[in-house]
Amino acid sequence: RIAFVNGQYVPHQSAAVHVEDRGYQFSDGVYEVIPIVDGRQIDGVGHVERLARSLRELRIDRPMSDRALNLVIEEVVRRNRVRDGFVYIQVTRGVAARDHGFPRDAQPAVVIYARPKAADARRKAAAEGVAVITVPDQRWTRRDIKTVSLLPNCLAKQSAREAGAYEAFMVDGDGMITEGSSTNAWIVDQSGRLVTRPASSDILNGITRLALMKLARETDIEIEERPFSVEELKTAREVFLTSASGMALPVVRVDDREIGNGRPGSVSSRVVDMFERYVAGSDTE
Ligand code: PLP
Repeated sequence: RIAFVNGQYVPHQSAAVHVEDRGYQFSDGVYEVIPIVDGRQIDGVGHVERLARSLRELRIDRPMSDRALNLVIEEVVRRNRVRDGFVYIQVTRGVAARDHGFPRDAQPAVVIYARPKAADARRKAAAEGVAVITVPDQRWTRRDIKTVSLLPNCLAKQSAREAGAYEAFMVDGDGMITEGSSTNAWIVDQSGRLVTRPASSDILNGITRLALMKLARETDIEIEERPFSVEELKTAREVFLTSASGMALPVVRVDDREIGNGRPGSVSSRVVDMFERYVAGSDTE
């Protein structure tokens, strides 16, 4: 297997960055995960655009054009013969003598690699539903930037694992859900509308979240963007989550509370089906 590191294709097992890379020392970098289904990128354009936005927000130079980036992504998928899996892209501010302030002349460092990941686990979770727990949101206030600074997300996910759950939904100081540790959170209200928190600096604006909004516009499904509370979450008709790696997954338990009858609800299942068709179709950019 091969990876792309700073302009070169190198064997995956020896692909490495320098000890003074600012991503390593300061989490001074951003990333994207692009799902690959049947050898094709899902929403590649959206992910590459969000990467450019994250870089801009942190004033990290773009290491290459979006077009060049896409060519490398395609090449990494091809050379690794990935059918189902994902591409990981990371760009950091680069290598420099340790100092919190920005270095004057560092070159951004780029890492791109691909990994196969069978779709079985995702399909099983989509059919059976998953459990989530709620935890306090301990992150900073620029959650719209997809930085590699993920420690609060890791702690939240680990708490979920230890509780036998798939995901942890994070709760802000006002008792409202922000999002999952690596997913966006959704509820279905009593009239069947999908409710999710509006895009702001409080959450990462998921590419899958945006894809669902686009898909819903072509149906009779209505979406309301507003924050919802833990209480609303636990008493919702249905709950589900979205992310590039899981697509849409029904949630059938929140903390100790069963959602609906503990089986995926009809609206969530419909959303899951919409994604299945979306990724199977050619209209994924
Ligand atoms: N929220 C957070 C904190 C995430 O890390 C992710 C994905 O990694 C998402 C939401 C979902 O975003 P996307 O649909 O682009 O994968």
